[in-house]
Amino acid sequence: AKRTPGTSMALAEARFALGSSDLLAQEQALRTAIVQRQFSLHYQPKVEAWSGRLIGFEALARWQRPGFGPVGPGEFIATAERTGLIGELGEMLLRLAFEQVKVWRDAFDRVVPVAVNVSPLQMLDGEFPRLVTRMLDEHGLPPQAITLELTESAAVANLDLARDQILQLRRLGVEVALDDFGTGFSSLNMLRSLPVHTVKIDRGLIEPLPAPDALAVVRAICQLATALDLQVIAEGVENEAQADAARQAGCQVLQGELFAQPLTLGEAGDWLSESVSD
Ligand code: C2E
Ligand code: CA
Ligand code: CA
Ligand code: CA
Repeated sequence: AKRTPGTSMALAEARFALGSSDLLAQEQALRTAIVQRQFSLHYQPKVEAWSGRLIGFEALARWQRPGFGPVGPGEFIATAERTGLIGELGEMLLRLAFEQVKVWRDAFDRVVPVAVNVSPLQMLDGEFPRLVTRMLDEHGLPPQAITLELTESAAVANLDLARDQILQLRRLGVEVALDDFGTGFSSLNMLRSLPVHTVKIDRGLIEPLPAPDALAVVRAICQLATALDLQVIAEGVENEAQADAARQAGCQVLQGELFAQPLTLGEAGDWLSESVSD
């Protein structure tokens, strides 16, 4: 059939209209969810590679959406970023993590660091270091209580600003990890130019372990990181063979389903009380 430019334009417009009303609906749902505090954090243990000792948790956001069950971050972080709600949502999630560290400190008499994922939009906001300072003060926690995870792709987009912000956080004593390392571009240069404390090797590089080529890549990253005085975490460790290879390659910290899935608050508390009694 013959299609006139007018028709395809109308189609494109219809599609756009559908897309934007979708986004509007999602924005509305997210807004309600924020107001009603429908978000929670799951906590995935991070263990010291050689001893298996618990050294902290990574906080992973979940949306307890009425009528939908738990919704994963893949389905709402991007929407929050696109609709400008990420600042508010990110602050709420950060506060949840702070509150939890405080609860655990009071219960177990030990500060167990929690790593919080931050959106680049959040991290690159000029007010962000002050927000973190304020929350540390409010909760009476030392800066080691919270670490921040920033994805590599995010930092690439604005390297100068990222460097400044990370430096400010570092001066406060708050460590930043470069997340999903090995998936993006100019990784090696970023390692050198960003004042991060830790590198998290992406699951995509851990999954093929112990295949010799993958082992060579992970080992090279660990050597480089060690030369730059950075800590290395292997994420997405699912079996013993991967754990052994990651350890052998020089990863100091391991995280993944071999040790524990992201845990509910109660389960994470159980882990903690067991690790305290060890
Ligand atoms: P990420 O930071 O790379 O987090 C690791 C993801 O891998 C998590 O997915 C975790 O559940 C999953 N995972 C952990 N161990 C294993 C394993 O052994 N095998 C496999 N196959 N997967 C494993 P999740 O919770 O769906 O989070 C996805 C992404 O959403 C995160 O990736 C992070 O980038 C983002 N995210 C999560 N929470 C937040 C948050 O509070 N704020 C922001 N801005 N982003 C968040
Ligand atoms: Ca992360
Ligand atoms: Ca990651
Ligand atoms: Ca990831």
